[in-house]
Amino acid sequence: MTEVKLYDTTLRDGAGREGISFSVTDKLHIVQRLDDLGVHFIEGGWPGSNPKDADFFDKARKLTLTNSVLGAFGSTRHAKAKAETDANLQALVNAGVKLVTIVGKSSALQVTEVLETTLDENLSMVADSIQYLKSKGLAVFFDAEHFFDGFKTDPNYTLRVLTVAAEAGTDCLVLCDTNGGALPNEITVAIKAARKTTSLPLSIHTHNDGGLAIANTIAAVTAGVDQVQGTINGYGERCGNADLCTLIPTLKLKMGIDCVTDEQLAKLTEVAHYISETANLAPDTFLPYVGTSAFTHKFGLHVSGLKKWTDAYQHIDPNRVGNQMKVLISELSGKGNVLYKARERGLDLPQQGKEVQKLLEQIKLLESQGFHYDNAEASFDLLVYRAKPDYQPPFELVDFMVVVEKRRRPPTQKSLEEMLSEATVKVKIGTEIIHTVAEGNGPVNALDQALRKALLQFYPSLSQVNLVDYKVRILEESVGTGSQIRVIIESSDGVEEWRTVGSSTNIIEASWLALADSLEYWLLKQKRQGNTL
Ligand SMILES: [Zn+2]
Repeated sequence: MTEVKLYDTTLRDGAGREGISFSVTDKLHIVQRLDDLGVHFIEGGWPGSNPKDADFFDKARKLTLTNSVLGAFGSTRHAKAKAETDANLQALVNAGVKLVTIVGKSSALQVTEVLETTLDENLSMVADSIQYLKSKGLAVFFDAEHFFDGFKTDPNYTLRVLTVAAEAGTDCLVLCDTNGGALPNEITVAIKAARKTTSLPLSIHTHNDGGLAIANTIAAVTAGVDQVQGTINGYGERCGNADLCTLIPTLKLKMGIDCVTDEQLAKLTEVAHYISETANLAPDTFLPYVGTSAFTHKFGLHVSGLKKWTDAYQHIDPNRVGNQMKVLISELSGKGNVLYKARERGLDLPQQGKEVQKLLEQIKLLESQGFHYDNAEASFDLLVYRAKPDYQPPFELVDFMVVVEKRRRPPTQKSLEEMLSEATVKVKIGTEIIHTVAEGNGPVNALDQALRKALLQFYPSLSQVNLVDYKVRILEESVGTGSQIRVIIESSDGVEEWRTVGSSTNIIEASWLALADSLEYWLLKQKRQGNTL
């Protein structure tokens, strides 16, 4: 079986993504996670480029890694300088690691146009730097920058750089598609040429500027490279690097390359989410394998197929990468979606009979009115409860009134104007009608206050419930102030969080529906769990 080693550069190249800035502590935690995942090499940073990375390597000495080798990144010595006195190389030697990766130019044009030195001086820079680091007992990977672009314009020089690096004693040659513009067939041709030039291990490092980082990496593996480089979630400068979260399962599950164990592979989704949280970025839900949408099914036809045979509409078993299958409820759903979702939510709904059909029709009608249950599971649960003929709601809305007033204050006061909101609600609880009034800092807040005032008399434990998020969306299908409005409310009782939806052409009514659903859901859940209200 082909062996391919994994090299992660999330902490160096990945941090090049707009908006990412890892703290030293973040980096230490990430290294631990990557070690758990079974990545062979972890590039921790560039100690010569900033004091934070130098500090990181200082603290990383205390880490005990089981699977991974931690490495530092740097560049070849400066032109017309000495390797022994080059600050960059010194920082690498002092980083306290056993592995270093140094980047050097392998494109003739880049040498003359950007580095502004001679082709021979560049070769000396590569050779000197590698020899110096080797003399310090380090494993050295040589990162051939612009390898594929260089190979296209001047293949002889580009391959000469590889030979020089190999003769200087490098342990691995990293072939980089630095600008991310190569095509898979170009990768194949260049790697085959490199393979003929040297017997040293080869590595591939791609960027996603042409949307081909993964395709190019796979082409390189097929052409015989020994190592792949990438980042978690594909983070990286511009359009990012090759995404290890796609590469690892592709290598293992599709190409039969055992780069991690089954247990390590099952941690992939968790690691991907952990790192996006640490990077303070919302996880990309649409990423292959690890995105929350990667195994989410919406079409009724697909869901009914999946119920018969789980692989019917999935390319792999999501559990293998630590992800899970999800079924959405929408206007595209069939009975299968509703039954699947109800089972997933722990609700009992008879497989046969009119109940499911009626519920499905109800959902489709509500969806056409702007309700949406994808992200409002609590409102979905309520639809299932309400479909039962013997359902007794804990309360019923009779009516409400909201007054919003803008008042002018006397000129002596700081703010000349103030907004007042007052809500009156009528709620039926059992046989009683409760009538309450409350003020709020806005109309929705006033409604919330008035409704709670009524319900708390009967259900004092409801005081635990708080509104944590309130989102309003004007639906695309309609335009202007007459348009349909959807409100999603997220609530919490300190233990669980749940979401409810309301929709109307009136923002207050949409909010009212979502608000009432939130409280009704919580009360029912307490009742089902046998808690006192
Ligand atoms: Zn890169």
